[in-house]
Amino acid sequence: MRLQAVKGTADRLPTDQPSWRRVHDVARRVLERAGVRELTTPVFEFAEVFERSVGEAADLVVQKEMYTFDDRGGRRLTLRPEFTAGVLRAYVEHGMHTWPAPVKLWSHGPAFRAENVQRGRFRQFHQVNLEVVGSAEPVADAEAIALFVDVLRALGLEHATVALGSVGDPEDRQRYNAYLREALAPRAQELTPTSQERLRLNPMRLLDAKDPGDRALIDGLARPLDHLGDAARAHFDAVAAFLRDWGVPFEVDPSIVRGLDYYRRTAFEIHADGIGAQSALGGGGRYDGLVAQLGGPDVPGIGWAFGVERVLDALAQVGAAAPADAGPRLYLVPMDEEAVADVARIARALRTRFHVEHGYTKRQPGKGLRDADRAGARYAGLLGARERAEGVVQIKHLASGAQTSVALTDLAAALDRPDPAASVGEVAPAATQEV
Ligand code: AMP
Repeated sequence: MRLQAVKGTADRLPTDQPSWRRVHDVARRVLERAGVRELTTPVFEFAEVFERSVGEAADLVVQKEMYTFDDRGGRRLTLRPEFTAGVLRAYVEHGMHTWPAPVKLWSHGPAFRAENVQRGRFRQFHQVNLEVVGSAEPVADAEAIALFVDVLRALGLEHATVALGSVGDPEDRQRYNAYLREALAPRAQELTPTSQERLRLNPMRLLDAKDPGDRALIDGLARPLDHLGDAARAHFDAVAAFLRDWGVPFEVDPSIVRGLDYYRRTAFEIHADGIGAQSALGGGGRYDGLVAQLGGPDVPGIGWAFGVERVLDALAQVGAAAPADAGPRLYLVPMDEEAVADVARIARALRTRFHVEHGYTKRQPGKGLRDADRAGARYAGLLGARERAEGVVQIKHLASGAQTSVALTDLAAALDRPDPAASVGEVAPAATQEV
């Protein structure tokens, strides 16, 4: 068997890194200005952390998607399928309810789900995740949603749309689930097996069904938003009012439900056009009660996550790719055997300040310049017997071809100037010549 990456996983090559780094840098900048602090949790947890968080009514689809295994000590562990459960486990474990509330935490990293692989759907994927724990106020929901939009806008996704809904309070949800059971009971046999299972365990999730036959049965029914009690309705209206006030565009989507049944009230998704069927960049919602379910105090919370791969896909569609990493400022070429040690030593000294690379074997000047060019260098530095005798390096600006000799003692200063292309010449103008 030829060894290759497991289906649904991917390598992130050096040329991919600038775009990924940019997503994290922008998220960090936008979120930290709003008082969100970074939390890193382990990639795996006791299976119970996720099992408790998804609850009894979690449909088997969710359960089957988890990578759960026994380790050598017989512990049942699960690779995180999402961040919320682990972040809240950490919140409880470290007593964060004693910190000034709300506690705003962001995280990023891989998540794992045993899914059917397709565009935008992988088995190892990556998320940026936000949790705001300790406030039940609608302004917290609105701030979380607005921050999501702010991150996307700062990345260059102006046209992502927020679909805002509400799954109501637990009583509303029960009422709505009862309504769905009753409405669909006469024709339940016509639903696909997955939808029949959802009807049994968690009817609200039927609204996520994609099968056209299922849709035909579901589309005419009332939506969760039509079944809100007064408190949940007032909360929804207040969230919407804040968003309008701040100019955060959104559409009310009465059918939004979230995959896991710990959600209450606010539920939302953010979509982008042009990234295929899996157009959701991310989503989130309020989960009052979940912290208690994980063994902590009864504090409310709201959060969201977006998929980094999907955001990068959407950014590629709008042509907002990150610039490639810059190459070395200087690439040193040893022109004889002795110079190999010299260029290595010079490079090491200059690396306290600059990105400097060098050849490892003796090179002809022409070949050495080509090496420097392929490394993406701005300057090539040639060092041979004559340069060694004079204590200089021949410095060539690769784009213009301008060349000059620079004393070793002046090298750092020359590289330090804003435009050494010109200033290198000033160091020793008399020596300028073409190779
Ligand atoms: P969820 O926790 O299912 O709401 O997922 C939040 C976001 O994570 C989604 O909107 C996607 O952007 C991303 N995501 C979820 N599952 C996958 C997956 N299997 N592959 C890639 N991205 C995913």
